[in-house]
Amino acid sequence: MSASSAVRVRFAPSPTGYWHPGNARTALFTWLFARHTGGTFVLRIEDTDRARNTPEATENLLDSMRWLGMDWDEGPVVGGEYGPYLQSERLPIYREATERLLEEGKAYYCFATPEEVEAMREEQRARGVAAPKYDGRYRDYPVAEARRRVEAGERHVVRFRTEPGQDLIVHDIVRGDVAFRSDDLDDFVIVKGDGFPVYNWACVVDDTAMRISHVIRAEEHLSNTPRQILLYQAMGYDLPRFCHVPVVLNTQRKKLSKRDPGVRSILSYRDDGILPSAVMNYLALLGWSSGTEREFFTRDDLVEAFTLERVSPSPSVFDVRKLESVGAEHLRVAATDELLEMSIPFFAALGLCADPPTSDQRTAMWSAVDLLKTRAWNLQNLAESSVYLLRDDFPLDPQGVSKRLLKHEETPTALEAVATALEATTEWNLEAIEEAFRTATEGGGFHTGNAIHAARMAVTGSQKGPGLFECLYTVGRERVVERLRRTAQRIRAGELTGE
Ligand code: GLU
Repeated sequence: MSASSAVRVRFAPSPTGYWHPGNARTALFTWLFARHTGGTFVLRIEDTDRARNTPEATENLLDSMRWLGMDWDEGPVVGGEYGPYLQSERLPIYREATERLLEEGKAYYCFATPEEVEAMREEQRARGVAAPKYDGRYRDYPVAEARRRVEAGERHVVRFRTEPGQDLIVHDIVRGDVAFRSDDLDDFVIVKGDGFPVYNWACVVDDTAMRISHVIRAEEHLSNTPRQILLYQAMGYDLPRFCHVPVVLNTQRKKLSKRDPGVRSILSYRDDGILPSAVMNYLALLGWSSGTEREFFTRDDLVEAFTLERVSPSPSVFDVRKLESVGAEHLRVAATDELLEMSIPFFAALGLCADPPTSDQRTAMWSAVDLLKTRAWNLQNLAESSVYLLRDDFPLDPQGVSKRLLKHEETPTALEAVATALEATTEWNLEAIEEAFRTATEGGGFHTGNAIHAARMAVTGSQKGPGLFECLYTVGRERVVERLRRTAQRIRAGELTGE
């Protein structure tokens, strides 16, 4: 690939608040496109809104991207040839570009106060103008006089001189050609009263300076693109390719908001122990599909399969239940050894092991993870459901006590018969366990189904979980036998209370 056709893309977040799935999805498409094409992924922090941007938000973003495995080739921390990558450190670059537009008469100083501008809009609204505009009152203000006022320190903004009568067509990779008219735009501000460039202006200067080939961003910016095209043209810059990716909606089909159920910061999913590969997989499905029914993708699969052409122009819907099911899929296929390392903090936080764990605890946790990884969607709920595997004092579900342990008179005797049979097995494997169990219940004239439910309650404390024989196998013979007998005794002694 020649230097001029090399793919260089950027993700350009404004660091306000925490990073949620909508932003992360846009970053992911950009990153996948870079990795798929062997291009360069640039991270640029658009921190020119001094009232809203915080260093914590930048840290949250960098940590989220690292956790998801979206590495950047140029940007904060790693640096690069076209830095600095924080817009707040690039002010001289914008100043120089602004100076050029001013000198060429393509931009001008405006001294209208915010109150004046508001009054102008109010007056237009009163006349029934739906989209009020700046009225151009400083358009033809004498240049020398304007310079003098600026040099004297008077507060001002810089406006772009929008010439009417132009068709502005955005050739968009996802949306096709979208036409705008310059008549609908006014002389918009490019440098604010505090001397900082507005988003549209800094973005054009930086995308050009950083040699960005494809501008991939959220659809909400499509309406900014005609203004940016005017700025590219005024500066004589080549246009990049544009690609506006569809909005992410909530399950009520409204724009995704931080208040929606299940919508949390990316780092809070990490804190719950959902695997990063699962979050990446789910985010990729928000607006992209491989063109087949397939929905399970590893990070490498996505890099291989992703193309912008398969990004849909229609909105996608964030559904936390779907995220959970993708989370479960990724846990199910993950290697137990790998999961064990990641699970330790979750077990330790619940007091189920020391940190670092003893070697016996490691062995027990390995078995717990291996058994439960097929039934959890994150490591938090995996650890929570493992208490009976790691400790003998686990809680009993009161509903299960009533329904499974106290309902039938034969239950304690059946549990004891099963205990005796399991104690006598010569081998401890699924087949031997099942056979001993069934022989004890059928041979003793007990109801096998009821005995299975009762044994599950006695050994795990819960009515749900993996197959009973797998549970018994993992808990281990000695503890199973002890739990079955203890439960039988407690039923007889009237020590168990249900709901
Ligand atoms: N800072 C803008 C945002 O976070 C970037 C838009 C763009 O990618 O051009 O929405």
